[in-house]
Amino acid sequence: MRAEIISIGTELLLGQVVNSNAAFISRELAALGIEVYHHVTVGDNADRLTEAVQAAEKRADLIVLSGGLGPTEDDITKQTIAKYLNVDLLLHEETEDRIITYHKNSDFEMPENNQLQALILAESIPLKNDTGLAVGMILEREDHQYVLLPGPPDELHPMVENHLKDELIKRLLDEQVLVSRVLRFFGITEAQLAKKIEPIVKAQTNPTVAVYANEGEITVRITARAKTEEEGNRCIDEIESLILEPLTDYFFGYGEKRLAEAVRDLLIEQGLTITAAESLTGGAFLSSITADVSAGSVFEGGIVTYSTEKKQKVLNISAETIENFGVVSPECAIEMAENSRKMFKADIGVGLTGVAGPGSLEDQIPGTVYIGLSYKEDPPFAKRFHFGYKRNKNRQLAVLNAHDMVR
Ligand code: ATP
Ligand code: MG
Repeated sequence: MRAEIISIGTELLLGQVVNSNAAFISRELAALGIEVYHHVTVGDNADRLTEAVQAAEKRADLIVLSGGLGPTEDDITKQTIAKYLNVDLLLHEETEDRIITYHKNSDFEMPENNQLQALILAESIPLKNDTGLAVGMILEREDHQYVLLPGPPDELHPMVENHLKDELIKRLLDEQVLVSRVLRFFGITEAQLAKKIEPIVKAQTNPTVAVYANEGEITVRITARAKTEEEGNRCIDEIESLILEPLTDYFFGYGEKRLAEAVRDLLIEQGLTITAAESLTGGAFLSSITADVSAGSVFEGGIVTYSTEKKQKVLNISAETIENFGVVSPECAIEMAENSRKMFKADIGVGLTGVAGPGSLEDQIPGTVYIGLSYKEDPPFAKRFHFGYKRNKNRQLAVLNAHDMVR
C-alpha cells in the first residue's frame, strides 16, 4: 500500500507554522509498513486542493489530508472533497452532541457554524476527536481510501494513535494486532546507530524497525504485526536482542523515558545521592535532576559558579589549577566534581566546565567541554568532549553526557 500526505493550510506555505503533522503521520504509517511516497502542501484553496487530490490518486492508494476541518470560513477540506467525490455531507450526531455539551459547560456561546465540525462525508467512518471538536473520517471509494484529519497537532496525534491506526490495521491486516516497543539510546549518533543495525533493518518487513533522533537521544521503535499480542511480543524479543547486541553500551531504557529519568531511577534503586558544580551549563544539569517529584531522595543541593573568581571563592578551586591549567581543563572539572561532592556530602559529584560559545575561552574553541566525575572514594576522573559551535546545543549535550557518565 502506498500513501500520500496532503497538508492543508496557507500558514504552512507562508512558513508561519512548521508542518509537523506530515512528519508525524509518516512515522506512524511507516510503523504500519505503509510506504509514503509524497508529501504535498496546499493553501486553503478549493481548486488547488482538488488538483492535489487528483494528483495523489494517480500515485497512492491511501490519501491522508490534514487541516481545514474547523468551523471557520477558510476550513474547506470536507466541502471540497464532498464536491470532488460527489458525496453528501451528513450530520454526525454523536459529534453534534459533544459540541453542544461542550458549549453548555463552557462560558462560550455556541457559534452557529460550529455545527460544521460535526459534518462527515456520507458512507465514511468517523474518527473520534479525543481532544477537540472536529470529527475526522476515513472514506473508502473504489481504489482509494481518503482520510481527513484536523490540523491542530494536539488533536491529530491522538486521533491517529487511538483511532486511525486501528481502522487501517483492520483494513490492511485483517484481524491481526499491532504490537510495538520503543528502545532508547544515547552516546551514538543516529547515523552511526542506523549503520550498526542496517542489515537487521533491511532484512525486515515484519517487524519493522524505525530509528529517529530527538534532542540528542535516539529512539528505535520495533513494530510487529501478528495474530496475537503474545506472538507479536515474541517476534519483537527476537529482533530486540539482535539490535541490542552491537548497541548495549548505548542502551538506557524502554518507552518514553528520557536519559535523565533513567539515571535518576538508577540512583534511587541504588540508594545514591548526587550533586554537581556547573559552569557553562548554568544549572541545567541540576535542573534536569530536580525535574521529577522523586528528586528529593537523590539530591540535596548543588552549585553554579560561572566566573573564575566564584569558582575559587565559593567552590575552593585551587589557584594552582587555575594558573597551571585554566578553568577549561580536566583538572578543574575534577576539582569541581570533588569539591561539590564533599560540600554537599553526596555519593556522586559532577563538574561541568567548558566553552559554550560562540566565542573562545582560554584559547579553547567553542564546544570544548570537560566533565568531571567523583564517586565516593574512587579516583575522580574527567572526560573531554568537543561538541560544536552552537551555544545551546553545547550546553544541552554537556548535560546529557554528564548523565551518561553517571549511568
Ligand atoms: P481548527 O478547528 O483549529 O480550525 P482545523 O482542522 O481547521 O482546526 P487548521 O485550521 O487547518 O485545522 O489548523 C489549525 C492549526 O493547527 C493551525 O493554526 C496550525 O497551528 C496547526 N496546524 C495545521 N496544520 C498543521 C501541520 N501540518 N503541522 C503542524 N501544525 C499544523
Ligand atoms: Mg481551521
